[in-house]
This record gives sequence, C-alpha cells and structure tokens, in this order.
Amino acid sequence: MSTRKIYQSTRSALLTASPAQAVLEGIAPDGGLYTLPSFADAAFDYQAALALDTLDMGAIILAALLPDFSLEEMKGLVHAAYLHKFETDDLTPTVLVGEDAVLELFRGPTSAFKDVALSVLPHLMRASTKKCGCDDEILILTATSGDTGKAALTGFCNVPGTRIIVFYPENGVSAVQKAQMATQEGGNVCVCAIRGNFDDAQTGVKRIFQQVQDQNLLAGQGIRLSSANSINIGRLAPQVVYYFTAYKEMLAAGKIRMGDKVDYVVPTGNFGDILAGYIAKQLGLPVGTLVCASNANNVLTDFLRTGCYDRRRPFHLTLSPSMDILVSSNLERLLYLLTGDAATVGGLMKQLQENGHYQVSDELVRRLQSEFWAGFCDDEGTRQTIGQLWRERHYLCDTHTAVAWNVAQQYKAARPNHHPLVVLSTASPYKFPEAVLRSLGGAQEGDGFAAIDQLEKLTGVPVPENLRGLAQRPVLHRDVIDQQDMLVYVLKKAEEKQWNK
Ligand SMILES: *Cc1c(COP(=O)(O)O)cnc(C)c1O
Repeated sequence: MSTRKIYQSTRSALLTASPAQAVLEGIAPDGGLYTLPSFADAAFDYQAALALDTLDMGAIILAALLPDFSLEEMKGLVHAAYLHKFETDDLTPTVLVGEDAVLELFRGPTSAFKDVALSVLPHLMRASTKKCGCDDEILILTATSGDTGKAALTGFCNVPGTRIIVFYPENGVSAVQKAQMATQEGGNVCVCAIRGNFDDAQTGVKRIFQQVQDQNLLAGQGIRLSSANSINIGRLAPQVVYYFTAYKEMLAAGKIRMGDKVDYVVPTGNFGDILAGYIAKQLGLPVGTLVCASNANNVLTDFLRTGCYDRRRPFHLTLSPSMDILVSSNLERLLYLLTGDAATVGGLMKQLQENGHYQVSDELVRRLQSEFWAGFCDDEGTRQTIGQLWRERHYLCDTHTAVAWNVAQQYKAARPNHHPLVVLSTASPYKFPEAVLRSLGGAQEGDGFAAIDQLEKLTGVPVPENLRGLAQRPVLHRDVIDQQDMLVYVLKKAEEKQWNK
C-alpha cells in the first residue's frame, strides 16, 4: 500500500496529491486536474488481467491507478459497487453488429453510461476519506440537466457516510428524467427543482461551494462538501475498465488475436470517456486509433484536425444533449499527458478562459493525430443512422450512439487500413424515446412515457426494468425553490439528522 503523492496538477508539477487525496478533493487547488505524469508508470500484465472476470479485472485496474488501495481493498469496493446492480455480470457487454462491435455501457441501474463510474465513485470517496484520516460525512451537491442526476442519486443511495442533494431546472429536463429523480428512494438522497434553467442551477451550486468555504459555514458539523463531476479521477478510473472488457470480448469472438490493435469510436462530450481509452492504451492495452465523435457542437473535431480550440461559436441544442458542450474539461489531462509540460497547459487554459480560444504547436498536432481521429454528425445524420441501423442490422440505438456509429463509418471510409472497430454506446434508446421513435418513422402520441411504450411495441426491444412503470411510482421529492434560496436550503438540510423515513 502506498500513500505517496504520485498525482499532480495538470498546471503545476509542485501541487501533488496521493490518489485518495485526489479522489477526495476532485480538483487541484490551482484549478488544474489531478493526473499521473504518465499512466504508463502504472502499467501491469494486461494479458493476465484479460483472463479474469470483469469485477476482478476492474479491481486490478483500479488498484493500479489508485495504489493507496490494496488489491484486496479494491476488490471489496468494486464488489460493493457493482455486484447484482447491472443487467449482466460482465457489466458492459460487447455485441457484434455487422462487421463492427458495439460496447453497451448502458446496462446499469439507470440505463445511462454514467452508471459505470457513479456506481463506484461513492465507495471510493468514502474509503478515500478514511485513508486521509478524515471522519467527516460527505455531502455531495450536484446540478444536473438530466441523466447525471439520476445516476448519481442511485450511486450514492444508502452508501454509509454519504448524502447527496441534486438540483435540476424545474422545466429543463424531460418528463421521464424528472420522474426518474422525483421517485428516487433512499434515506440519504434529496432532490430539489430550481425555478430557472440549468445554468442557474449550476451557478447556484458553484456559489454554495464558494460561500461555504469563504465563510466556513459548515464548521464543526462534521460535514465535507464535495461534487461528483467528471473531472474527478475517481470517476475516470472506472471507465478505463470497459476498454479491457471489450478487448477481451473481441478476442473471444475471434475478431482479433492477443496483441492485435482495436480502434475505439467514442461519442464525446466532456472528453472523459475517450480519455479513459487513452489511459487504457498507456497501461498497455493494444489500442489503435481513438475516434472522437461529436454532434453539431464540433469544437473537438476542429481541434483535432487543426490544433485550434475555439469555443467562440454558436451553441446548438441537439438530439444528443449529453454531447452538447463547448468546453471539454478532460481535454486538459490529454494535453498534459502528451506534452508533460504543466506551464504550457496552464497557459493554454488561461488563453481559453480569457480569449475563448488557443492554438497548439505543430508538433503537438502531429502527436494528437497519431493517436486520435475526429468526425461529427448532425441531427439529420443522427436520425438517418438510427433508422438505417434498425432496418439493415436490426440494432436499436440511442441518439448518442448513432453519432458514434455514423462517425465510425466516416472513419472507415477515410482509413481503409483501420483495425477492427468497437463503437461505444452510451445510452439506452429508451432514455431518448421520442427522438428514436421519430427516427424510425413512428408517429408520437402523448408524452415521453407514451413514447417508451410505443417504441417497445414497434421494435419488440424490451424496456429496461428501471424505466418501466415510471409514471405510476410514488413521487417522493416535491421541493421547488428559487436560485437565491439554494444556500439556505443546503444549510437547513445539512442540519437535519434524517431526511426520508
Ligand atoms: C456523458 C455522456 C456522454 C459524453 O461522455 P464524456 O465522458 O463527457 O465525453 C456521451 N453520451 C451520453 C449518453 C452521456 O451521458
């Protein structure tokens, strides 16, 4: 067991942290992200790991990335997080679709890909708190525009030593998403709507963190505020695992032989998912090209093609909302891993914040392009892809997966000598039933709940249990407040000894 400070900020090699500390703090004090100088330092015998089942393989990978925890400890955490919580014991099945493969990341308790990371993060946080000699209860505050809220509520539900409050915009989430959150059970969970949009909710949460810190508002209460967002290394590490499980399934299917490379196509937003693929590669897995798929918000496509990152552009609301993003936070980690130069990364991030854009060197563009390929697909292409995949392959996919599948075909056309392909699928089609139904030519009657039933009737693909009968479940959370009342709400909730009976 090591408690060495092997992690450091992407913006300063002097700001170091132990793995447990990095999980507990989430973000480095200078605003940088915690990273290993190179994840190759944590490499292990990947061929031996591929022989294990998913949970044991996961424990090895997580213990390699977070060596504060022994393999035995990590096995305990991983089992507590995942066992019997997913539809299948291998958590994330890989299915063959035509000549390619789809890695289904949505078989978790809320049918969202975020389940993979948010199932284990609460356990990692709790254990990290103890490792750091801290006794405080962790109070998670999250603002959500939809999917992350439910996945976080479910991940933290009844994990000892933790509580969670999720804020969502009252009229800014779908009826299905609202019902998913408002019916959440558990003695340590709280859900509250905000009168306003997602930005209002998110700004409100950021302000609470600031005010609580500046004025020491929770002093002496034994409570530590934290967030569950995707820049935390504890959320990134669990995502590395499914790159290995997909590789293992490609071996089993006879698509590759041990040591052959596999190309992965990733529907990308905040760049966490695809960065996990790069970490898997640094750890020794034979990853070929990582293909970054974007929707009409194609800031990453432009960046990987030109080296110019420019967020000064219109923001499009698309059919794949989890990828509607103009600043991809985890890209910062990649820039550090490729340059090893914290001063350069800090400078680029400063330019982005102050001027809205930056340009990297020709040398760095070459390095990026030797690892990544990028493409994008708009809403029209998304609809067509959903319809075509269903008609030609009888595979039903959601809007985010459709973007990735479309870009995968662009990639194959551009690079005829590509490796066997795995396309990552990040959501159940039933999480976006209206858009999927319309893409199949179905006429929608009624709301999202009706669309779920219609889509099942039309395709015969079963609705995941957690989404079935949602409209009939008892509503347990009804609070609606104004943004300016959020701090008072949190302080009052923090004082209450018990939330739900
Ligand atoms: C979060 C999310 C993504 C984007 O993943 P990043 O790690 O942010 O790049 C893609 N699809 C769905 C459905 C998501 O929820």
